[in-house]
Amino acid sequence: MKQHYSYWFKQALEQEFGSEEAVIRTRLTKDEEFDIAIVGGGYTGLWTAILIKQQQPGKHVVVLEKGLCGIGASGSNGGCMLTWSTKYPTLKKLYGEEQAKWLVQESENAIYEIEDFCKTHGIDAHLYRRGTYYTSTNEAQKGGMESVVNELSRLGINSWRKCDKDLKQKAGSERHIEGYYSEAAGSVQPALLVRGLRRVALELGIKIYEDSPMQKLEYGQPAKVVTDKATVSAKQVVLALNAWMLDHFKEFKRSIVVVSSDMVVTDPIPETLNQHGPEKGATVVDSRIFVHYYRDTRDGRLMLGKGGNKFSFANQVDTMFNQPTSYLPLLNRSFQKLFPQLEQNSFAYNWSGGSDRSVTGLPFFGNLKGQSNIFYGLGYSGNGVAQTRMGGKILSSMVLGLDNQWTRCGMTKGSLGHFPPEPFRWLGAMMMRDAVRRKENAEDENLKPFWLDKQLAKLAGPAGKADKVNG
Ligand SMILES: Cc1cc2nc3c(=O)[nH]c(=O)nc-3n(C[C@H](O)[C@H](O)[C@H](O)COP(=O)(O)OP(=O)(O)OC[C@H]3O[C@@H](n4cnc5c(N)ncnc54)[C@H](O)[C@@H]3O)c2cc1C
Repeated sequence: MKQHYSYWFKQALEQEFGSEEAVIRTRLTKDEEFDIAIVGGGYTGLWTAILIKQQQPGKHVVVLEKGLCGIGASGSNGGCMLTWSTKYPTLKKLYGEEQAKWLVQESENAIYEIEDFCKTHGIDAHLYRRGTYYTSTNEAQKGGMESVVNELSRLGINSWRKCDKDLKQKAGSERHIEGYYSEAAGSVQPALLVRGLRRVALELGIKIYEDSPMQKLEYGQPAKVVTDKATVSAKQVVLALNAWMLDHFKEFKRSIVVVSSDMVVTDPIPETLNQHGPEKGATVVDSRIFVHYYRDTRDGRLMLGKGGNKFSFANQVDTMFNQPTSYLPLLNRSFQKLFPQLEQNSFAYNWSGGSDRSVTGLPFFGNLKGQSNIFYGLGYSGNGVAQTRMGGKILSSMVLGLDNQWTRCGMTKGSLGHFPPEPFRWLGAMMMRDAVRRKENAEDENLKPFWLDKQLAKLAGPAGKADKVNG
């Protein structure tokens, strides 16, 4: 089946090659040897490769990608560059106060570092560090951020301020009744970012083979990554496969669930957005469990995304995601509720993608069981645009055998929890999703949700983009 590209990925390929048909691919066609082979050419794989090469230029590094670099989540996400500051309570519970504080700060640093990286390397990824609005759209959602902000303030790391009367105007919708703003955030054209990383990786001397899917990984020293045409032997291998990890490594089958995020983008409406849209370059995220998130684009479109619509059975990815959304009516209803003033009754494009949701809502890293030369990282749970740079720091440090805060951090201990086996996982996810929908619809109408729906919704985690099933 031909993959349905995201709006961003189409745009990036057209800009890079002139048209989708003119795309040039360099495939692995003969056996080769490397120090380090990285499988997966999204943000995680490319940041890891770049950070390894920057620290040790002598290392011979290859990236093997099954399609084109960026064809996965990295080229199709919402481009909302967010931090882990709203995840502070979960981070503290899992890793203790000191590490939680450090991880929040590093997630904010990542935003500034990516901005600097793009400037230094001439990557025009339409990156606007204009902050984010984290809002409530009904009474039930109000007050959720207060305790987090208090804790962050106590630690001296709070970047959030409560918005005043201009919230509705700045966030571009009358629906917002409470909101916080942080400037440590922004928006990016995600596919231009990942294709930019690819270019820089090549300039640093990293080999990249696209259309070269790993079919098999043979353990040993060296390990062998077998593709359809040839084999790469490498002393160390990094698996940066996101949700596709499950295709090959069953040890992760209960560590993640693959959850859709669905997106629509309007035609260019720059004048209308100037008057009635959100602040240019900022991102807006509401406090639903299945979050709404939106941002504008450089050419004056509005993109709206919504997470948690489709849960994959047995974690299939290609057959279920990366297609036109099957939730267009739902997205349209959300759009009309949020932006009636824009008077948009149709969209220029839509797509969907699958996110790797972990039990904790945070990524995890480690070595494959019994394989000290094979590393992995996944589970970003819909918060990865900035966090994959941190993932790159963790993985590059692990590969280089460094003893630093990254290798010592709690995220390197592998998956911290398991979902139930199928079919219970999928059935449970469906019950939870439907309960969340009923609860949030009732709250939108200022009605009291059913008790059972509230209890089931709790299983999805706390509300807030950071800690929930999103994209
Ligand atoms: C629809 C959607 C919306 C999102 N929105 C946001 C957002 O607004 N903000 C945010 O912070 N995060 C968001 N995310 C999450 C974020 O995009 C991801 O966390 C991040 O891109 C993960 O990067 P990655 O490199 O780990 O994975 P990917 O970019 O998915 O990279 C994995 C790569 O591995 C390749 N691969 C798979 N199998 C093989 C194989 N056998 N051999 C070789 N290569 C293989 C794939 O083709 C893919 O390119 C969203 C995710 C989705 C899906």
